[in-house]
Amino acid sequence: MSQKFCKTFTALEKKKIVPVENSLGMIHSIETFGALDGPGLRVVVFFEGCPLRCVYCHNRDMLDMKNYMTISSADLLKMVKKYTPYFGDRGGVTVSGGDPVFQPKFLREFLKLCKENGIHTTIDTSLFTSEKVIDDIVPFADLFMVSLKHFDSGIHKCLTGVPNELIIKNIRYLNKKLLEKSNGSRLWFRYLILPGYTDTRSNLCALIQFLHEMHFEKIELLPYHTFGVYKWKELEIPYVLEGVKSPSERSVRKIRSMLKKEGFSCHCEERV
Ligand code: SF4
Repeated sequence: MSQKFCKTFTALEKKKIVPVENSLGMIHSIETFGALDGPGLRVVVFFEGCPLRCVYCHNRDMLDMKNYMTISSADLLKMVKKYTPYFGDRGGVTVSGGDPVFQPKFLREFLKLCKENGIHTTIDTSLFTSEKVIDDIVPFADLFMVSLKHFDSGIHKCLTGVPNELIIKNIRYLNKKLLEKSNGSRLWFRYLILPGYTDTRSNLCALIQFLHEMHFEKIELLPYHTFGVYKWKELEIPYVLEGVKSPSERSVRKIRSMLKKEGFSCHCEERV
């Protein structure tokens, strides 16, 4: 595959892409009644900041630590608790972003409070973090939703700004840890279908091999979409995937049936 672009961090980004160890959280926004980010009905808390800079990020406005409210974990819990009557047996809170592991101290405190209050917790993360952060949050997480943007580290770097080795290492580490923990914590894998990039034969073969090595409860296929492109335009940041279209239903079906044949429980998000 010829790469027409390669994401490199600007000097300003390099300076700013350092995890924040504050006790107060920097939260971009909160969405209620989310049905796509974990089981049941959920409150989705979008953390500001992310260690990656994916060229297709649909939450580009959440990455630069410019657009957030500061809040304590207790106050955030109070906001979430208003919605507990709607959670039923399956719902709860999902921390997303950006990437919650970019604020590890606040993340741990907030998840701990949720668990103390009987609220189901889901973390949507790139896992571009340290084993220590994983160790710190595992006791308070009911479900991890992790992803890998590409199996070739060089292409992964072009797509996200970072190589993939640390993420693969952390997914393996988390997988092992959750199997040992055996208290019902779950692990889902999300895979973006980006036509011409992540749906190549070699990448799909690597995906299948990787999935066979892991124990994911569920695989979610996320077809690429352009719903967030307007945010790049508003921020006046060039969108390098201009012209790349969402995958056809046929190609998504093909990938899905290929994974099912391999024995994986595979779902496809309806948001595209
Ligand atoms: S990991 Fe997610 S939030 Fe972070 S840049 Fe990539 S797509 Fe955006």
